[in-house]
Amino acid sequence: MSHVWHPFTQHALEPAIPEIVLTEGAYLHKADGSRILDAISSWWVVTHGHRHPRIMKAIETTASSLDQIIFAGFTHEPAERLANALVGLAPAGLDWVFYSDSGSTSVEVALKMALGYFRNIGAPRSRTVVMEQSYHGDTIGTMSVGARGVFNAAYEPLLFEVDTIPFPAAGREQETLDRFEAVSRDRRTAALIVEPLVLGAGGMLMYPPWVLTELKKIAETSGTLLIADEVMTGWGRTGTMFACEQASISPDILCTSKGLTGGVIPLAATLATDAIFQAHYSTDRKKTFFHSSSYTANPMACAAALANVEIWRDEPVAERVAALSAMQAAALQRFRDNPYLADCRATGTIVALDLRTGSAGYLAEIGPKLRAFFLERGLLVRPLGNVLYLLPPYCITREELCGVYDAIEEAGERFGSKP
Ligand SMILES: *Cc1c(COP(=O)(O)O)cnc(C)c1O
Repeated sequence: MSHVWHPFTQHALEPAIPEIVLTEGAYLHKADGSRILDAISSWWVVTHGHRHPRIMKAIETTASSLDQIIFAGFTHEPAERLANALVGLAPAGLDWVFYSDSGSTSVEVALKMALGYFRNIGAPRSRTVVMEQSYHGDTIGTMSVGARGVFNAAYEPLLFEVDTIPFPAAGREQETLDRFEAVSRDRRTAALIVEPLVLGAGGMLMYPPWVLTELKKIAETSGTLLIADEVMTGWGRTGTMFACEQASISPDILCTSKGLTGGVIPLAATLATDAIFQAHYSTDRKKTFFHSSSYTANPMACAAALANVEIWRDEPVAERVAALSAMQAAALQRFRDNPYLADCRATGTIVALDLRTGSAGYLAEIGPKLRAFFLERGLLVRPLGNVLYLLPPYCITREELCGVYDAIEEAGERFGSKP
């Protein structure tokens, strides 16, 4: 009998949970010898493919000299070199790197930095503006800035109040911009936090770069900080290293995690501008940035991330991302006329569509049925309710991807209903 309580798992309804004994490239290998194509990069973390040799090697090498080191008052080479590399890769102006260990903590850190900034400069602001349908993590703070719903209904009494702007749906972008202008006008808003270009857990909703450019302009006008949560969108997911590049903006704070180590080992970083660092730089110890987690800047994790950066530098990763993005864009043409599939959309390496069914939303009955349907075909596809999406590792081949597209069409015929 297993004593493991799994995440986002209703154990009363879940069939036997398969055990994975080996991961390799785009595949998870089961104990029974069969393998599953990981079409969602193991919950969006794996970028190049599972167990890239260079990343595994970097962990091994580092493990021969370093384990965890207290990071308050001490430093080490992997953390120093990685911080340098990240500042070089991130949008201009993000000069300081604060390490933590998950996407959620990188967002918590970002929110604390924003409030700390305004308090330390003597002009306190405490409101946060968030985009409806966003997801920023599962801690109390990150749930507070994320969409309210079935995931956090039980914890609602603990969540702090935020101001919301609508998702910039096609043709209604101006409403989002107008709303942000209105809520930030009184200069009480510390920060706007957004998932740039793609809202992941909210249903793979996509909006164009120009909206982000405009949001940044409005933020500047009202002195509001812009936090870009690039936890999912970073490291090539949307076609560029960071999604913000497509909007030609530099946020004030940028959160990165999932693909930071190529998806191999937990690590996160919150990057901030010099202005935010300087607001905490003082002989007054009350202005210290009071945040830490035990495993901050774990040396093996930093070495894995450095290896990831080197892979981007030395291997044709950008070409792989471009090729995958082109395949996903081509799939749109294929799906567009399918009567069972609606609202086909793609940004970079991500493709998403809504299966036309009687029910929608995360708890739609169809979700688990679809997941089982794909798993029977050796495919890991984990729909968000009736939203099907593919977010594959960059090593996936055209043939493998076409196999998944075929299965999506089959699923449409099996489970879909015509409009
Ligand atoms: C996954 C995700 C997070 C949370 O990251 P964890 O590592 O799961 O804590 C935060 N923001 C976005 C946009 C994400 O996709």
